[in-house]
Amino acid sequence: MKKYYGLLAAFCMVVSIATEVMAQTPSGPPIGAGPYRPNALVELVKLDSTIKLDIRYATPNNFFGKAVYTEPRAFLQRPAAEALLLVHRWLKEQGYGLVVYDAYRPWSVTKLFWDITPPEKRVFVADPSVGSVHNRGCAVDVGLVDLRTGHEVEMPGAYDEMTERSFVTYTGGTAEQRARRDLLRKAMEQDGYFFVLPEEWWHYNFKDLRDYAIQDIPFSAIDSPSGSKKP
Ligand SMILES: [Zn+2]
Repeated sequence: MKKYYGLLAAFCMVVSIATEVMAQTPSGPPIGAGPYRPNALVELVKLDSTIKLDIRYATPNNFFGKAVYTEPRAFLQRPAAEALLLVHRWLKEQGYGLVVYDAYRPWSVTKLFWDITPPEKRVFVADPSVGSVHNRGCAVDVGLVDLRTGHEVEMPGAYDEMTERSFVTYTGGTAEQRARRDLLRKAMEQDGYFFVLPEEWWHYNFKDLRDYAIQDIPFSAIDSPSGSKKP
């Protein structure tokens, strides 16, 4: 997979709300017109400790080859987190669970990605003047865990791989790999809360993403309550 890294800055970083007018600020996060709902980031494992984390940006195992998060943690806005729990619980009935690769991403990390990416490759990273859905706490990168083995299942392509194998319509790979990818998509989309980014089998946006502003709160400063409001 190493050969893909470099240019393969995740498509998901490109995701932005192009239609939303954002005020330009010289050094801080963009400010949209709003109105926005209050920030309500919650830590996923505090809602359900069985959600597996594999936070790649907290390790060198990512396309930068170094950690950009100081803590391997995952947060989403509460309605998105609650919807993700429904997905996780449905998958349990099928013998699977969710593994989260990335969720809320502070805006300053998006800016870091931009700053360390050569100008000719910036087409592959989110412009910090616009921000990413991850900055809103409304995007999540996920895969599947086989509950029989506890291991992540193989998909047609690897997480963050910038090739056609990442496309949700990719017809290569094994039938089993495609079936797992399609099962993940069914689980995420069947209730209407999430929709996939067609170029990335792992990236899902929450339907109400426009209700939340770009955030730049570091993980260490998020005061996440415990427990789910829903059974
Ligand atoms: Zn993503």
